[in-house]
Amino acid sequence: ATPTAITVGIGQGARGGVLFKNATALENTAVITAVVFDKTGTLTEGRPAVTDVVAAPGLADERVLAAAAAVDRQSQHPLAEAIVDAAGTRGLALAPATGFDSVPGHGVTGLVDGVTVLVGNLRLMRREGVDASALTETAAALAASGRTAIYVAADGKALGLIAVSDPVRATAPTAVSRLREQDIRTVMLTGDQRGTAEAVAAATGIDTVIAEVLPEDKAADITALQDGGARVAMVGDGVNDAPALARSDVGIAIGAGTDVAVETADVVLVHDDPAAVSYAVTIARATRRKIK
Ligand code: ADP
Ligand code: MG
Repeated sequence: ATPTAITVGIGQGARGGVLFKNATALENTAVITAVVFDKTGTLTEGRPAVTDVVAAPGLADERVLAAAAAVDRQSQHPLAEAIVDAAGTRGLALAPATGFDSVPGHGVTGLVDGVTVLVGNLRLMRREGVDASALTETAAALAASGRTAIYVAADGKALGLIAVSDPVRATAPTAVSRLREQDIRTVMLTGDQRGTAEAVAAATGIDTVIAEVLPEDKAADITALQDGGARVAMVGDGVNDAPALARSDVGIAIGAGTDVAVETADVVLVHDDPAAVSYAVTIARATRRKIK
């Protein structure tokens, strides 16, 4: 495109809440064939809240929530915040936790009252040798409604589940349908469990779901799509997303996302609206047509 057309395109983007960082970002956006969305904080609002606590037989809900919150008090994860908030709302006293450890893509561990407490997904339970089979059916039912089921264990035994819900952004279905009208394939890439991811995909119309991805593997999934011939834009908000944003042909950050995501990205969605992706494509394609 001519330098003038590019300047005009970047200006149009800015007025619509799409910040193209440079001419290359605009040019690459014109030719993308697939958009990969992170789930949490991108397709969803990123403000998870606890909806249910399911204790193992004979245990009080409060015991499950207090154990989880004691450990998650030391975590920065959005799910951890939801658990700590729920414990606070219920007025639970939290015991101090020591030896805190965070296992990326799995959850967190810590010592509470001399006992090792685990808070995380089924993968964490398996890794630590906890038999959680009594809870998996309930977890699947919670996931089917789009909620994330978090397992809690103490002293090697499953204590229960905490269900967390993160509402789908109101504009997410529009974001997906507009991209489809532009002949662009949509993909969800998430560390969350498959059932939850499938439910959010159904609510938004996303074509393909890649779930239960470890943070360090997100970039490799982008490469796999590129190897399949796709020109990929990735939309994300989190620290975990930065390597995948960098690997994509066009990295797009939600404006309210982490500093590292916003800095890594080629394009920033100022109003946190995933529907702005199709607007970016419209501008980029129009700019490209002004070449000759
Ligand atoms: P995402 O790709 O959605 O950001 P992560 O890779 O951060 O997901 O986490 C994957 C899963 O690990 C979460 O869905 C959750 O089940 C579990 N998990 C991670 N950190 C925590 C935590 N601090 N507390 C509870 N569960 C956690
Ligand atoms: Mg996220």
